[in-house]
Amino acid sequence: MKIVGTKLKRLSVSIIAVLFAISVLFVNPLSSMALIDNASISNTLNADSRTYNYTIGEADCIGSAVIYPDSAKYSAPPSAPKEDQSSSKPKVSQETLAPGTKYATELYIIKSGQPGPVVMIVGGVHGNERAGYTAAAEVKDWDIKKGTLLVLPQANVLAVDKKVRYISSQGDLNRDFPQSSVQSADNTLSKAIWSAVKKHKVEWLMDMHEGYDYYKNTSTSSVGQSLIYYPNSGTKTVASKIVSTLNSDISTSYKKFSLLQYPVKGSLARASGQYLGVNSFIFETCDNPSLSVRVNYQLKAAKTLLQKLDMI
Ligand SMILES: [Zn+2]
Repeated sequence: MKIVGTKLKRLSVSIIAVLFAISVLFVNPLSSMALIDNASISNTLNADSRTYNYTIGEADCIGSAVIYPDSAKYSAPPSAPKEDQSSSKPKVSQETLAPGTKYATELYIIKSGQPGPVVMIVGGVHGNERAGYTAAAEVKDWDIKKGTLLVLPQANVLAVDKKVRYISSQGDLNRDFPQSSVQSADNTLSKAIWSAVKKHKVEWLMDMHEGYDYYKNTSTSSVGQSLIYYPNSGTKTVASKIVSTLNSDISTSYKKFSLLQYPVKGSLARASGQYLGVNSFIFETCDNPSLSVRVNYQLKAAKTLLQKLDMI
């Protein structure tokens, strides 16, 4: 009986071995082909993202911040992975600042659901600085994998509508924030923005602006093409990385970005840096190049900030 039992065991082992061989021959090649397909799709996306730099569309990999080409210029192959509708998709909500007033403006809140930094990106403090609020309007649609991203695309709606720095009856919004630790913000709009910064416990703040000339052109006092930071611990390291990343693509020396401090007194960046300990900076493009070039600088700076914080 022992001999018969042993033969049966050997026969079973042989059958399993044959079945395994069949699976290797027929099933694995299919799996391998699928993997190759996915790899080639991925390469295509990466190649396109270099072509259409900094245009970020809907992500299919939740939290991975895949950079997509402009959706208008790109047709996904039929076999492209479908969008993941899992519950880990960042949650986006809106909050109206200064509700019920003529200053009412939307704050977009993107929550990853994962612990991480709270970053606020602001555009339209000055209504004639188009690259800032145009870029911020794109950033509000970005996905993040960690922390919280707050975007205020049009801080000063009235000024943006009229494309002016500020409404004369209202004054310059970037001088309306506290200039001492006991002072409050000056008016309805600055009070609402200041309250939002405190309420959401903002840790990093990027305020998007534009200058009328290049900072390196010493015949004017403009600060176009500069990053002006408040020197809290850790701010300079990230600010330097943003400037060096941008400058690596700029060959003309006077067009390169400069790293400066401090943001002007009364500005949102100065007040939040000095009195709330926020890692804050003003980012200034020069309004000389085309709008798309300037918007791309703004987007690249925001993207570098979020990458350094491991949020995308
Ligand atoms: Zn400005």
